[in-house]
Amino acid sequence: PATGANRTIVSTFSPQTLLMAYSIMGGFWAPELKFAGYDKVIIRGKSPNLVYLWINNDKVEIRDASHLQGKGCLETEELIKQELKEPKAQVATIGLAGENRVYFASIEQGRSSASRGGIGAVMGDKGLKAIAVRGTKDVLVARPAEFFELCNEVLKYIQHRADNPIKGVPPILAGLGSPQEMALHDEQWHTASFAWGNARIRRKDFWNKEVEKKWKKTQDKAVERLISCYNCPMKCGGIITHPKLQRYMMKCYSKLTYTMAAMSDLDFGFKIAGLAQSMEWTDTQLR
Ligand code: SF4
Repeated sequence: PATGANRTIVSTFSPQTLLMAYSIMGGFWAPELKFAGYDKVIIRGKSPNLVYLWINNDKVEIRDASHLQGKGCLETEELIKQELKEPKAQVATIGLAGENRVYFASIEQGRSSASRGGIGAVMGDKGLKAIAVRGTKDVLVARPAEFFELCNEVLKYIQHRADNPIKGVPPILAGLGSPQEMALHDEQWHTASFAWGNARIRRKDFWNKEVEKKWKKTQDKAVERLISCYNCPMKCGGIITHPKLQRYMMKCYSKLTYTMAAMSDLDFGFKIAGLAQSMEWTDTQLR
């Protein structure tokens, strides 16, 4: 129940470096595991067939996942919830990249991902498509009064930093996504070297003040509401809705190139961002 304590840490040997690696994701998976009564899951060995793990409080099952082979992460997550008839399960899963042991494959969960070190390839190598978890137990705190006092202190500090930002550091709770990033950092590498589709042809003159103004206005208007990972006051994700286009989620600093592309004369516009981060499969989580 601690403020913002929602991170899932995946540690393994990276197929990229063969050294110890870890990757972290937010979302809801780790708190759900804690509510199921566990602090850690250790996966040893590998399965000859594609399987997924279902942790339902004290009951743990290895289930066949052959029907999920070749499915993307968001789709797999939704299909597993339907199959288990457990819409509140949290599902960490790999997609095609992990199954095929692509060296930079990620593990996805809800709208978060553990993307570093190629850890998704390790999960794929073990034949583990996903880990679904549902926990409904209480978490008992030894000294709850002191504990919640500390949590409140953290919240107060977050508010203090929002009111008193440090120069050059993105202010907590201040805004969302690339417009905030661009206010603080030199984005010349991106804006002056726009490349889409064919990296050999860079459009040096693409970005200008007029495009930037229009882009910020469009982005700000498109934010339907802000969302957070479990128990986090930051709300650093936004649900983005453009008229007649698919809803999608935008995380802090995400998909700058996609949204920039939407402002260009390329005809895919914001559709590409919607397709890349479709809300269709994750809608149940946002209600
Ligand atoms: S909402 Fe943003 S800041 Fe909060 S835990 Fe998730 S990723 Fe981190």
